[in-house]
Amino acid sequence: MALLDDLAALLGPQGCLAGDRVPEAARSDMSRSGRALPRALLRPATVEEVSRALALCHAVGQTVVPQGGMTGLAGGANPRADDVALSLQRLTGIEEIDREAATMTLKAGTVLQTAQEAAAEAGFLFPVDLGARGSCTVGGNIATNAGGLRVIRDGMTRDNILGLEVALADGTVLTSLGKTVKNNTGYDLRHLFAGSEGTLGVVTRAVFRLRPLPRARATALCALASYADVLALLAKARVDLPGLSAFEAMWRDYFALNRALAGLRLFAEAPAFAVILEAQTDAEVLQVFLEGAYGAGLVADALVAQTEAEARDFWTVREGHAMDTHLPGLINLDVSMPVGRLDDFARACREALLARFPGAHVSFFGHVGDSNLHVAVALPGGPRDGAHAVDAIAYGLVRDLGGSVSAEHGIGTLKRDWLGHSRSPAEIAAMRAIKSALDPEGILNPGKVL
Ligand code: FAD
Ligand code: ZN
Repeated sequence: MALLDDLAALLGPQGCLAGDRVPEAARSDMSRSGRALPRALLRPATVEEVSRALALCHAVGQTVVPQGGMTGLAGGANPRADDVALSLQRLTGIEEIDREAATMTLKAGTVLQTAQEAAAEAGFLFPVDLGARGSCTVGGNIATNAGGLRVIRDGMTRDNILGLEVALADGTVLTSLGKTVKNNTGYDLRHLFAGSEGTLGVVTRAVFRLRPLPRARATALCALASYADVLALLAKARVDLPGLSAFEAMWRDYFALNRALAGLRLFAEAPAFAVILEAQTDAEVLQVFLEGAYGAGLVADALVAQTEAEARDFWTVREGHAMDTHLPGLINLDVSMPVGRLDDFARACREALLARFPGAHVSFFGHVGDSNLHVAVALPGGPRDGAHAVDAIAYGLVRDLGGSVSAEHGIGTLKRDWLGHSRSPAEIAAMRAIKSALDPEGILNPGKVL
């Protein structure tokens, strides 16, 4: 076919894999909901190649699905059989660390952990961190506006990009790789592409702001008796704990299961709520803060990590990777709503899910400091059987509480039916207008988000 010949001529044998050369990894992101392999997998190694490959596809109306590290959880990078997938995994590398401006300029396919390590080596903190750090790409982080573990201090991905370069559907390259924090020259295009999930353009390069490397970091695991105490501890930490960098909570069932799977003891009895409190300060400062919280009756017990390994143990329980193998087909929702309502949601959601699916595993955890809750559900009927009913129950409650059906993973295909629960018809119409202005032929990631 002429297009594939042209793409192969442009990108070379390693840059254009078609037919049975398309690797299995191109089928699905980590939601494992992808069914088809794309007709070809493009692997451009330069911005110029991305641009020219898009122009070729655009000319004949060929649909293109951008792919980063394939760790997404919303099906956003999954192709259909007649799509071409465009992987950024060969477009990698850090171009510059500007110490004075405290910025890093890098290519979109760079793995997050590589960026973090390079920043640390230069004496800075890369401001984005999430559990998929070893495989996800910074381009994917931008395209999904990834959140993660330290949003309470450093914000979402969009809050940390100063400059962006994007190839549009027709191959036009928009380069605005500025390093300034302040730039009010018209519409801020960065924010249009952050969170657009590959539907408006292909991110090729970015400038991230870097933060000072913390001189110290202290971590505690706290046991709390009620959600009211969780809220009071959060309010107190915001005021009294300098350098607060994470406030993550686990509801009892989540903590108990993941503690057992990790083979750790941590508290004699699983508390109603376990909170990881992390601050960029000395352990003594955290200790004093916790004594105050204990004195005020907010925490029932607390363990301050004495070593990096102990802190890692707390995070192992919180990240809960062992659950994925223990409960195959685990469904993970990411919702948000006003922080005061998270436990109301959790109670109502548990009750409704167990009424519909007796014997299901339902547990809650998340970035409570960012009003963001994850819901882990495993149904007795088998992997993903009934997932739509789970969504309907949980997202119906989210809508009633004025929340968002996706706090961080994005809409992709899996949450497309529920976009209207969190966005008004007028908002969705504005999104469609932006989409058709930037991609009038509709070749970029069709069927995703909208
Ligand atoms: P992919 O999965 O490859 O793609 C995601 C979306 O972005 C797709 O729509 C794709 O088309 C688009 N895309 C990818 N690259 C580009 C590009 N260069 N230009 C344009 N579009 C592009 N997410 C969070 O927000 N917070 C978390 O704490 C978090 N924790 C996670 C933990 C684990 C263990 C796992 C498996 C996932 C987690 N995620 C989390 C979800 C996921 O890691 C993020 O969404 C991540 O940002 C996706 O990056 P990726 O490179 O893997 O993108
Ligand atoms: Zn999360």
